[in-house]
Amino acid sequence: MTCFPVPGFHYVQGRLHAEGVALEAIAAAVGTPTYVYTTEGLTAAWRAYADAFAGQDVDICYALKANSNLAVIRTLATLGAGGDVVSVGEMRRALAAGIPAGKIVFSGVGKTKAELAAALTAGIHQINVESLPELDALSAVAVELGIDAPIAIRINPDVDAETHGKINTGRKEDKFGIDFAHAGEAYARALSLPGLKPLGIAVHIGSQLLKTTPFRRAFGKLAGLVRELKASGVPLSRIDLGGGLGVPYKSEDAAPDYHAYARAIAETVGDLGCRVTLEPGRSLVAAAGLLLTRTIFVKDGLHRRFLIVDAAMNDLVRPAMYEAWHSVVPVAEPAAGAPLTEADIVGPVCETGDTFARLRPMPPVAPGDLLAFLTAGAYGAAMSSTYNSRPLVAEVLVSGDRFETVRRRPSFEDSLTLEAMPDWLSP
Ligand SMILES: *Cc1c(COP(=O)(O)O)cnc(C)c1O
Repeated sequence: MTCFPVPGFHYVQGRLHAEGVALEAIAAAVGTPTYVYTTEGLTAAWRAYADAFAGQDVDICYALKANSNLAVIRTLATLGAGGDVVSVGEMRRALAAGIPAGKIVFSGVGKTKAELAAALTAGIHQINVESLPELDALSAVAVELGIDAPIAIRINPDVDAETHGKINTGRKEDKFGIDFAHAGEAYARALSLPGLKPLGIAVHIGSQLLKTTPFRRAFGKLAGLVRELKASGVPLSRIDLGGGLGVPYKSEDAAPDYHAYARAIAETVGDLGCRVTLEPGRSLVAAAGLLLTRTIFVKDGLHRRFLIVDAAMNDLVRPAMYEAWHSVVPVAEPAAGAPLTEADIVGPVCETGDTFARLRPMPPVAPGDLLAFLTAGAYGAAMSSTYNSRPLVAEVLVSGDRFETVRRRPSFEDSLTLEAMPDWLSP
């Protein structure tokens, strides 16, 4: 029970702390459910990249979609991160959090003309184009604005990332990027269109990869393509390798080898004369966050025990959506040798999918007890919703012995402010 995936969370005198702050104090001040992030965890995750890539010139653009809280973004920006964004909303968040436009990359298969115009006007570093129609659209927008668009073309390398089907993005049947075989055509078109400066190439093969072999395969294929394109006169000077490095969710999962990842990059694309960009999301934020929840009821059914907690699938959808596994620990440290009883840990939402864990061996838990879902900093709050008219989950950032609510829980009145009653229904 004392083995946590990152520095940042640990028991002090039998009470789980985030750095120097007792989670009980956060629950008392902010209520539950609440995400709690540590600066120490974010910094450690950043350092893992910095150490592995020491001596290699890479730009790290944090993929905001993993956790788009402004304070989290700013913490990473302060450490040196740029931003990888997939919507104009994320671009504006990156800018609001202090990431300079010159360190922002815009990815995504379905950018609207309004989004492309906003990106050009902001002067971002690079737009990663994913289709021929997007090339045409961007050219038209660039000409209209009189701003040349620095672009990379995202290539689908047709490599299986060997991860969950919903987050595997680099097979030819996936919706992302331009087919390997059509890359030459795409660059020819980009070079012929006004307003486009094709200077980069991009891939992103998927998320939650624990092995580096699929990366090596994809980057190797890409390197061959870069050589061909360069030989045919495409002035490539940038290579964007996407994100995707996974994190161990279970203590028995081995963490990916960052040094092997860095070597795979050096050995495949290191001699192309291109500046390398990485777009990690999950691996920078997952372990730095937990979801704090309070047990409402302990219900002993005919066949099993249910721990019914005040967090639900609207707050953390990963188990329902990706069959994801999160470690669940009590905030009050269980006695050594406490008996374990299998329980299903469920939320109050009215569907069976609202189950965080099935038949999980748990120490004794009583109503009112606080529990923590670990490794919840990525794709947790960022994917939260208000399903069942539950308020959007709150978020707290800890630094040393200080903590701050970095997204407050909306009041019921707040939640109604976007709605209106049509005239014909008004009294
Ligand atoms: C989602 C995504 C990322 C980040 O992926 P992680 O698995 O969170 O590292 C990076 N680049 C692109 C284009 C993405 O869509």
